[in-house]
Amino acid sequence: MKIEKELNLYCKFCRKHTNQTVKPYNKKPQSGLSLGTRRHNRAIKGYVGSVEPKIHPKKLGKRQKVMLQCAVCKKISEKVIGRRTKKKIEIKH
Ligand SMILES: [Zn+2]
Repeated sequence: MKIEKELNLYCKFCRKHTNQTVKPYNKKPQSGLSLGTRRHNRAIKGYVGSVEPKIHPKKLGKRQKVMLQCAVCKKISEKVIGRRTKKKIEIKH
């Protein structure tokens, strides 16, 4: 999947369409203090019933994300591009 280097997209900080540069997505390390993580830790400790592993159906591919930097306010936001796919996003030069 190929994507243009610059896109004219809506910026939620400027509240209008601006020119945005596309950068590859880099995952941030999790803080471990989110509600889901705390709830899971409590369940493991034994405060909440029994913990049975849930069986999830296997999904084919992932939804690819890109980082967008606004040219006006310089803020970075992430955006999902396209549907579930095994192909990686390539940024055109
Ligand atoms: Zn902006």
